[in-house]
Amino acid sequence: MVIVSYTVLYRIHCIGCRCSQPFFKKQMNETSTNFDSSIVENPVQFIAELEENIGDFFLKLVSDAIGMSVNDIFISPADSRCDVSVRRLGIVEPVCQLTTEEGARLVSFIKAKAEMDIAQRFQPQDGRVSVTLEEGGHYDLRVATLPSLFGECLTLRVLDPKKTKFGIEEIGFHPTNMRRVISLLDKPGGLILVAGPTGTGKTTTLYSVIRQLNDGKRKIHTLEDPIEYVLDGVVQSQINPRRGVDYADLLRGVLRQSPDIIMVGEIRDSITAEILVRAANTGQLVLATSHSASTAEAIEALLTFGVKAQFLASALLGVISQRLVRPLCPECKIPLDDECTKTQVYMPHGCPSCRQTGYCGRVAVGEVMLVSPTIRKLIHNAAPVSTIRQVAIDEGMIDLRTDAQDKVDKGLTSADEILRTVPADNLGIEPAV
Ligand SMILES: [Zn+2]
Repeated sequence: MVIVSYTVLYRIHCIGCRCSQPFFKKQMNETSTNFDSSIVENPVQFIAELEENIGDFFLKLVSDAIGMSVNDIFISPADSRCDVSVRRLGIVEPVCQLTTEEGARLVSFIKAKAEMDIAQRFQPQDGRVSVTLEEGGHYDLRVATLPSLFGECLTLRVLDPKKTKFGIEEIGFHPTNMRRVISLLDKPGGLILVAGPTGTGKTTTLYSVIRQLNDGKRKIHTLEDPIEYVLDGVVQSQINPRRGVDYADLLRGVLRQSPDIIMVGEIRDSITAEILVRAANTGQLVLATSHSASTAEAIEALLTFGVKAQFLASALLGVISQRLVRPLCPECKIPLDDECTKTQVYMPHGCPSCRQTGYCGRVAVGEVMLVSPTIRKLIHNAAPVSTIRQVAIDEGMIDLRTDAQDKVDKGLTSADEILRTVPADNLGIEPAV
């Protein structure tokens, strides 16, 4: 099924002569013997059939995306065409180009499937679709539309149910960081922050942590926007700003439910920050994310929300900060001759099993700060970020730079991949001018 659909996408690009980058060409060449020859012999007719049945096209697109471990599918109208692309392992890759009319039909079809208002094309909308694939498997996709210059854009986020089964040991933390995370989760109460920009795997880490804590002996509540995955045995609530229910309102309600553990998707306002810190100080284990770039900066971000330094100092147990990097494909990575490095480092090459990218999967590069008595005192005194960071390193924190270097030295990833994903500030290097 997946093999066939590569070919479908290739045909659309090729026959229509509307795409400058034949992304699926290689897969088509390699798998052509598996292709249904009756379709190949008359591709024009096949596309015509496909165009008649936009539902089949949608299903093939989703089937492909899931087969390729794609995170997002983008349908983006442009001047006189509509681009279809995907984000896989953090990188956007083109799939095919449709005509403006085909793109509009596809967007309308998906909106209808997600029970959105099809007539409304000038307001952003959110929805969700469920897809059952012919080859088996049931998947949910989050749908979001946005009016743009050339028409309505649509983004599909593939919600992979495997993510809820992810254990913390699979995230890829350095052994020292792993021990530190486990020690944080042993605490009965306090605040644990997971920091990093959007798309750095914070949600996956939080779900893994909740999975670890979900032993049936404690009452766990989550506050999310939106709820992406169903967690068995956990009470999940979603904020609903249109009905006037924000994080602060929900959080007050959750606290009246006598929870042991609370997970909050994001701290967006000072009221939520204050309630969370108060809950952590009164004995609940509170987990929350922050968009800050590093562990020490996450502390500063909470203080800028107006949380009193002494309250944060007593509540905070630790901060996990992370980025996601692509590991090198073990089947095709090639040794790099570099006299500067003490160990054998590798660079990507490309082979069929990694779809010629040289990389496969994603792992976290991270740092875990534990709040020691010294750091607690520094937070209490609102010490500068650089001071807190240096003390944490002196106390044994494996920082982002050290973890990244370790993964390059062990041949797990490449220096280029680290430079692409971890900001120069965190690596302690001067950005190139
Ligand atoms: Zn490879």
